[in-house]
Amino acid sequence: MTLDPLPETDLTRHRRLRDQGSLDRADLNAVLDAGFVCHLGVVIEGRPLVVPTVYGRDGRRLYVHGSVASRSLSGGTPVCVTVTHVDGLVLARSVFEHGVNYRSAMIHGEARKVTDPEEKLAGLRRLTEHATPGQWSYARSPNRRELAATTLLVLSLEEASVKIRTGPPDDGDGPDAERGLWAGTLPLTSVWGAPVGDPALADETPVPEHIARREGTRYA
Ligand SMILES: Cc1cc2nc3c(=O)[nH]c(=O)nc-3n(C[C@H](O)[C@H](O)[C@H](O)COP(=O)(O)OP(=O)(O)OC[C@H]3O[C@@H](n4cnc5c(N)ncnc54)[C@H](O)[C@@H]3O)c2cc1C
Repeated sequence: MTLDPLPETDLTRHRRLRDQGSLDRADLNAVLDAGFVCHLGVVIEGRPLVVPTVYGRDGRRLYVHGSVASRSLSGGTPVCVTVTHVDGLVLARSVFEHGVNYRSAMIHGEARKVTDPEEKLAGLRRLTEHATPGQWSYARSPNRRELAATTLLVLSLEEASVKIRTGPPDDGDGPDAERGLWAGTLPLTSVWGAPVGDPALADETPVPEHIARREGTRYA
């Protein structure tokens, strides 16, 4: 299925390193689906606050959650959310040309606090399933007290941008190539490890299949 491109707005228009920008919504979805930790930027009492937090994507919406006491989750204010995956170091001949291979997304918008109980439960389910598919039906669902203690924000993915850098350094055809220095990329990958059971577990408790199968698979 072909997705409509991301609209270029005053906020999302790339001004620098434009060649790394993408308007492909599939790229946005891929960057968001590859991870589950974002940085939520919000201005509180005139000061910027950037909070790392877990998210979940549901179609063209992004959910973030946290404690009702969290000031960054008050909702109804402009926010900027970023998601970043580092794929490696770009080691050039000159220090100036050094860089990072990466995939990143930036979402601008106004987050809405989810108050409808059914929507809240569905959003929390999506958030849990985004990070650990299969875990929502395995673990106990939140009770009324826990739901009341949780804030869930939802943010539209309409005003969003993507940037992706791949490939070697940019100075392979410049004068510094004559120096005979090694240059290239140092890839970086994250891999899920073996599950470590809680010492409080009864010995016979098996690792559920949806968790066991992630061992050795790539993250992001
Ligand atoms: C891991 C990592 C390391 C980086 N290191 C450097 C560095 O050392 N030096 C450097 O100059 N740049 C670096 N970048 C790129 C940096 O994120 C900016 O894209 C770039 O610096 C341009 O910034 P600007 O403020 O001029 O953005 P502008 O082009 O003015 O931003 C306009 C709009 O473009 C979009 N946008 C900008 N940057 C991004 C992004 N990264 N992802 C998604 N959308 C974006 C946003 O919607 C933003 O509102 C790095 C990026 C990543 C992910």
